[in-house]
Amino acid sequence: MADQDNNPSKHPPDRAETPFLDDEGAEQAAERFRMAVQYLNLHKAPPVPLNYALGYFYSADPDSRLRKQMDAAFGDRKPWQHEEASGLFLRFLAPRTDKASEKIEQELLTVVVDILHSVVDVADNASKRSSKLNRYVDHLAACQDASKVKKITSEVLREVREISSESQTLANSMQTSVKEVERLKDELAHARREASSDALTGLSNRRIFDTTLGKLIAHGKPFSLIMMDIDHFKHINDEHGHVVGDRVLRQLARVVSGKVRSHDCVARYGGEEFAILLPDTPHLPAMKAAESMRAAIEQLNMKRSDNGSHLGKVTASFGVSEHHPQDDAETLVARADEAFYRAKHNRRNRVELAK
Ligand code: GH3
Ligand code: MG
Ligand code: MG
Repeated sequence: MADQDNNPSKHPPDRAETPFLDDEGAEQAAERFRMAVQYLNLHKAPPVPLNYALGYFYSADPDSRLRKQMDAAFGDRKPWQHEEASGLFLRFLAPRTDKASEKIEQELLTVVVDILHSVVDVADNASKRSSKLNRYVDHLAACQDASKVKKITSEVLREVREISSESQTLANSMQTSVKEVERLKDELAHARREASSDALTGLSNRRIFDTTLGKLIAHGKPFSLIMMDIDHFKHINDEHGHVVGDRVLRQLARVVSGKVRSHDCVARYGGEEFAILLPDTPHLPAMKAAESMRAAIEQLNMKRSDNGSHLGKVTASFGVSEHHPQDDAETLVARADEAFYRAKHNRRNRVELAK
């Protein structure tokens, strides 16, 4: 049956204000990195990706709301709180889980990964520079004829050694961060796919259908809905078993997906019912699309993989409704339903238009 929506995420508008989509040069990124590390040091915040991202964007825009909130949370020597930091990260920077934000999420993560890569480079260079300095200072230290020089030199020596060990630690921790962010990116991509698709057919799930339909209605442009229901599907299950039935569902999902444009939404609406949303499409081209789906399904000549026997003709019935200005989601679906029941009534394997 239809998938449940367990994850209705809310998206605050603040996010749009963060500058993370700007294309920055390596030099500017390095400068921001330096400021971010300074900021983290000042607040004694561990340089994990979450804090680093906050520090980076804190430094990126002096007028951002993120910065104001961070000043409120961590200014006046208030101690760094992980919960507070992750709250701000989620609110301002975290990837979103709905489909519309997919692109932003992708870009954000790409940027973070790029930043971390350049951080590793910068830290690596700093570490090379400081080892050179170390050699130089060692040399100076060996020259003992002026006590003043020696005193200053040992000061410098101490300083430089600190820098060296700090940058080494930083390089190590940032290298770990890069791996962590990349792992996170894979996980998020996986979670997002799981959250929006139907497990059996790979089509969009009911949640995505409902969201897309809501958006199309809000948009106000003409669009159409096709409801499709497999004919006598119970017979297929009864005769060949549910495993074969599942294969038929997957095959039909592929056929229908092959008949739509990339911005159309094909969803598994319920058990053996699919719903297809066609943006910018009046009823006539929608009828034509449904008819081509119907014909392609009828022509499938499916065989069982275990014994090679033919499944016989599989067909489906279709109802098409075009959105009218007075329609809400319910009335639009009800009119498409009425049309496909008419198709069932008229001996199935047909496309009918809603009244
Ligand atoms: P009609 O032409 O009137 O639509 O007849 P039908 O047999 O297709 O309709 P009915 O509603 O009587 O039966 C639908 C069947 O679809 C019953 C149910 O077991 C089957 N079904 C629903 N979901 C799945 C699924 O995920 N896998 C399989 N194999 N069968 C499913
Ligand atoms: Mg049905
Ligand atoms: Mg059916």
